Amino acid sequence: MRLVDVHCHLDDTQFSADLDAVLRRAELAGVKAIVCNGISPASNRAVLALSKLHPLIRPALGLYPIEALKLTDDEAAAELSWISRQKCAALGEVGLDHKWSTDEKEWERQEDVFGRFIALSRETGRALVIHSRKAEQRCFEMVRDAGVRAVFHAFGGRRSLVKDIRDAGFLFSIPPSVLRDSGFQQLVKDVPLSQLLTETDAPYLGPEREGRNEPANVRLAVEKIAALKQLTTEETANVLFANYLRVFGGPT
Ligand SMILES: [Zn+2]
Repeated sequence: MRLVDVHCHLDDTQFSADLDAVLRRAELAGVKAIVCNGISPASNRAVLALSKLHPLIRPALGLYPIEALKLTDDEAAAELSWISRQKCAALGEVGLDHKWSTDEKEWERQEDVFGRFIALSRETGRALVIHSRKAEQRCFEMVRDAGVRAVFHAFGGRRSLVKDIRDAGFLFSIPPSVLRDSGFQQLVKDVPLSQLLTETDAPYLGPEREGRNEPANVRLAVEKIAALKQLTTEETANVLFANYLRVFGGPT
């Protein structure tokens, strides 16, 4: 069985003491690829370094919307330019966040940076891994006609918007919290398997509310998706992995 985690943060300090053990458990669970997403200039460099040390890890490079607000325009432009010169599996974590930022001026700056990533995605063909917290509609509007491939990670928007995003051909990645979150369960039912992926957002969004999440737990998400789709775990995993290869390409 080939499993994939398309969105996690293994550069987080919560993994600095035992990353080797975490990766071993992922391998034992059948995980064949872990796309680690950068969130800031420092995090992007850490993710790239990790990917060079561990063959299981592939880098995605981006600027998390709240982190983007900490940069000047020139710094953000320099980071985009640096990212455009790196080998990476995707552009992420990028997007908009209206939960932790409520100022309209900040929203404009977030949109400016996200817009530049959308343009880079169009130029390079690399998929976007999108954070859309409390800004789901706006994120969708920005990518809808952009001619890019995009994955909405841990999507928490309303059901009618799920259908619009599905009909536009984008993908959704499902975390292990699908075990306890009825919103994700409904999303899995509403979207064809060919448009789903698995993630952990580790160290966040674990199968239980408390405790550190890790890539091995994508297996729990795959089992839950299989149950909801009334398929075997094996069939489900195969389709999800094919989706991953289609959207993120082979090794970089
Ligand atoms: Zn994340």
